[in-house]
Amino acid sequence: MNSLYDKADAQAAIDRYAPTFGEAVALRVYTSRLIGADPALVLHGGGNTSVKDQFTNLLGDQVEAIFVKGSGWDLGELEPEGLPGLDLEYLRKLRILESMSDEEMVNQLRTHLFNASSPNPSVETLLHAFLPHRFVDHSHADAVLAVTNQPEGSGMADAAFGSNVIHLPYIMPGFPLAKAVADAFDAQPDARAILLHKHGLFTFSDDARESYESHIDYVDRCERYLNENTVGKTIFTTTLSKTESPESRATQVAPILRGLLSEPGDEPNTVSRRMIMDWRFTDEVMNFANSEEAKALCLQGPLTPDHVIRTKMRPLYISGLQWSDPETLQAQLADAVLRYRQDYDRYFNQQCVEKELSKTKLDSAPRVVILPEVGALCFGSSLKDARIAADITEHTLVTKALAHAAGKYEALDEADLFDMEYWSLEQAKLGKSKPRALDGQVALVTGGAGAIGIGIGDACAAAGALVVLADLDLERAQSAAELLSKKHGHGRIIGLSMDVTSEESVRRGFDSVCRQFGGVDLVVPNAGIAHVSPIEDLSADQVRRVTEVNYMGVLLTIREASRVLRAQGTGGNIVINASKNVFAPGADFGAYSASKAAAHQIGKVAAMELAEIGVRVNLINADAIFNEGDVDSGLWQTVGPDRARSRGIDIEALPEFYRDRNLLKTRISAHHVGNAVVFFASNLTPTSGATLPVDGGIASAFPR
Ligand SMILES: [Zn+2]
Repeated sequence: MNSLYDKADAQAAIDRYAPTFGEAVALRVYTSRLIGADPALVLHGGGNTSVKDQFTNLLGDQVEAIFVKGSGWDLGELEPEGLPGLDLEYLRKLRILESMSDEEMVNQLRTHLFNASSPNPSVETLLHAFLPHRFVDHSHADAVLAVTNQPEGSGMADAAFGSNVIHLPYIMPGFPLAKAVADAFDAQPDARAILLHKHGLFTFSDDARESYESHIDYVDRCERYLNENTVGKTIFTTTLSKTESPESRATQVAPILRGLLSEPGDEPNTVSRRMIMDWRFTDEVMNFANSEEAKALCLQGPLTPDHVIRTKMRPLYISGLQWSDPETLQAQLADAVLRYRQDYDRYFNQQCVEKELSKTKLDSAPRVVILPEVGALCFGSSLKDARIAADITEHTLVTKALAHAAGKYEALDEADLFDMEYWSLEQAKLGKSKPRALDGQVALVTGGAGAIGIGIGDACAAAGALVVLADLDLERAQSAAELLSKKHGHGRIIGLSMDVTSEESVRRGFDSVCRQFGGVDLVVPNAGIAHVSPIEDLSADQVRRVTEVNYMGVLLTIREASRVLRAQGTGGNIVINASKNVFAPGADFGAYSASKAAAHQIGKVAAMELAEIGVRVNLINADAIFNEGDVDSGLWQTVGPDRARSRGIDIEALPEFYRDRNLLKTRISAHHVGNAVVFFASNLTPTSGATLPVDGGIASAFPR
């Protein structure tokens, strides 16, 4: 590992931040970002840094200050606002106390901030404050963890780090750790670094560059030590061939696992919390998953205790799956997950008894499933959580294997990991956030690039769902997804190519969603086309074309959705965008009206057939929708001129005509349809097989 410190970049940071925040904070931001930019040093909010400086208060007094990374900030994207400032003189005095609870520590930190709206300072703030140096850098570097996650007395850390380094055994972060570090430093004031075994590294200096480069130097020493001590050694003993494509197997297991890992609700076929999957299959992950070492290493805990919140204590490793026999495969997966959950309950109960604690039990589902020939299937209750678990997993597998090859990988024991997983500060966060109606759900909308598809996707994403906009035109689907992603977050809406008239295409589409997110919960057959012609002039081909999309497309979409929903076993919703025409057909609109009526009817049949797996099927009958933002309805571009002519009005006057014909005198928008979809998918009422008009009230189209 090399230093990335660049004088010109450092000067640019000073030019940008020093006028407002001072030079020290400017350099602190710069070198923190250097650390945060390298995932081999820290991952997703891990690690922390600080700088000591002066602060001028409202009275003009200069007070000693410490600026330390705030929670919720990533070092890689740190801004001065992510370094809350605190009264350093006061914090230093706290060291004389014998003990302090974690809650009191958080209270002391919050009440000694300079700015009441700052984020919570890092829980390691007192450790930073008790050290005398201006700059303190802390990471959870992979290489450092590989040499310290070793049996006690291995001597590996001494050999890698050399002299002038303080070694401390693992102590839970908080006041006791801050005191232990300060005491150790007082006893060895010429130390250049502090190594917290099975946790991470601290370096320090009065100079920003020196503190950072000392950090990189020690990580580099560990990397070199590992290289030298693994030369000629087997990292992975692999008996499986790597040539087999993992795609089909990931497709097969993803929805089953997603279902098994969700939390059941009170009613049968309902869930209280769903999971999103992120599948990783890099060469390193596959080498690990296919190795003989994988099983034993999966039983070991994480690299650093922070990770337990994201990945649970250990991944679930399953081998010997019967791929060719779906029933046995399903049973094997269910059995493995059940045993994992039972073991988790055993760990929780045992720790509570031994420690005489009463805690709120977290869910017992694994976050990471390692399968030979498939890789790592990583889960979280949101896309972000799944990705964090997956990123940590990629680093963990490689580092564990390297540590194992150099010596013997040994993580913290259950007692220490329990203290982190059930830390009172973590428990206090439980139940604080109010979930949105579709959090954790995956929604697939056909005809997703059209005006109504975008409106539905927008409403579902706003309600918390991940959205797949499936469309015949991939480019349009992707640009629609990009448009919505700007509003709802990167990666939360994706475009997908799907021809709803092709069995193969629909199947492939659902398969790719299973690999991308783990499965699907809400399916909206929405793709439709129109054709204007009296029956006398209709050709069979014209009727077939409209029927293929509007009826057969809905049927095939429901069929493939059922396959995935059944594999998941967690219920779900299908909401068909039918039409006001189903109950109030229009002359010259035969092909369209009849095909929509068929789709409407197949929806009711699906409601009857899918109830046994908890899937609700409902229907929306909307009146004319002309556009969604800048996207015009393709259907209305086709039929608009003719409809205007038959009404004897200009095409521009059509929206007004449709508005005036309903009882509420309302212009119907794609968002209204989206809201109706969200209503059904929220399961607020026990409703299936129902039709909800979204038409402003048209008496001739009342459901009957
Ligand atoms: Zn740490």
